Amino acid sequence: MRKTVPFLDLGAAYIELKPEIDAAISRVMNSGGYILGPEVDAFERDFAEYLGSSYAVAVSDGLSALCLALRALGIKEGDEVIVPSNTFIATWLAVSHCGATPVPVEPDPQTHNIAVEKLSFSLTKRTRAIVPVHLYGRPANMDPIIQFGRDNNLKIVEDAAQAHGATYKGNKIGSLSSDAVAWSFYPGKNLGAFGDGGAVTTNDLDIEKKLRLYRNYGSEKKYEHRIKGFNSRLDEIQAAILRVKLKHLDLWNTRRKNIAEKYVSDICNENVNLPGTCITEGSVWHLFVVQCAEREQLQNHCARLGITTMIHYPCPPHRQAAYSVDIKLPVAESLASHVISLPIGPHMSESDINRVIEAVNTFRCI
Ligand SMILES: *Cc1c(COP(=O)(O)O)cnc(C)c1O
Repeated sequence: MRKTVPFLDLGAAYIELKPEIDAAISRVMNSGGYILGPEVDAFERDFAEYLGSSYAVAVSDGLSALCLALRALGIKEGDEVIVPSNTFIATWLAVSHCGATPVPVEPDPQTHNIAVEKLSFSLTKRTRAIVPVHLYGRPANMDPIIQFGRDNNLKIVEDAAQAHGATYKGNKIGSLSSDAVAWSFYPGKNLGAFGDGGAVTTNDLDIEKKLRLYRNYGSEKKYEHRIKGFNSRLDEIQAAILRVKLKHLDLWNTRRKNIAEKYVSDICNENVNLPGTCITEGSVWHLFVVQCAEREQLQNHCARLGITTMIHYPCPPHRQAAYSVDIKLPVAESLASHVISLPIGPHMSESDINRVIEAVNTFRCI
């Protein structure tokens, strides 16, 4: 029996950078300081510079990044925030945790990202913000979203948890003129730590200052608490590791892009719909998502050939027990029952890539 093709090989990512990562970890261990220190400061500078953003504030995880960004922008109880119907639940939870109500907008069936022409149908007197998501590493159509935000006096927080290094019209996500951008460094993301991590980037000094207060008990100076803050801090080990991994992000994203291009050119099966190349410009291919009417059959066929696949996501937020909102969102619901993600990652071997292609190409519906 041949070895299985993993969905993503995080162990191999460590092996490639082992000497640098081990040195970074031991530097922190010997420093005697473990939470919010010089490594976090340096990572914030490196990450802001990489993105072309004025400020980066490191936090404990991606959900906290979204929550604190919304709070720093004044989102509160009674407010409504427009979110995509097709996203990971964190996007919705962040809005709910501010006391506000997430108002879903359906995705464009081609891009799977929020459909800009549908935004106005969800606008009410209470709408205060929009959280576009760059799903699968594929940038949302930001120009009309930013314009819509300006026209209607809304804040914009981008959920860039899957989009480290992605570009929109040649500009990096993180450098556009939204109010704040939330990032996750969960291990499986394109820029991943060895534990939880996150950040908010912004070009606004006031927002940056608020974020620094919120992440650390509302305190700038020890035991002086100006606001009711949270504990959402990044630790030094994760920051030191992220500084190492950031230097390799572009190379690793290029490897993902090469795999995606090979899939697009070599996968050929009338029962499997590939992402169209015209809509994946600037993507960093966090996921390679295809659609299949007989998804379960395709998943089983791949499994028999040793190919690990995943579903992103099998149930949209409005159908989760946490929300169970009684509305029909047919595009999100249809995607949830047809999408399937093929393995993609910077450490896939040539032979594993070919095995995935062969598995999909030999699939027959019964
Ligand atoms: C991963 C992810 C998050 C949350 O990040 P965590 O670090 O896991 O809290 C938010 N939004 C999207 C789209 C994600 O993929």
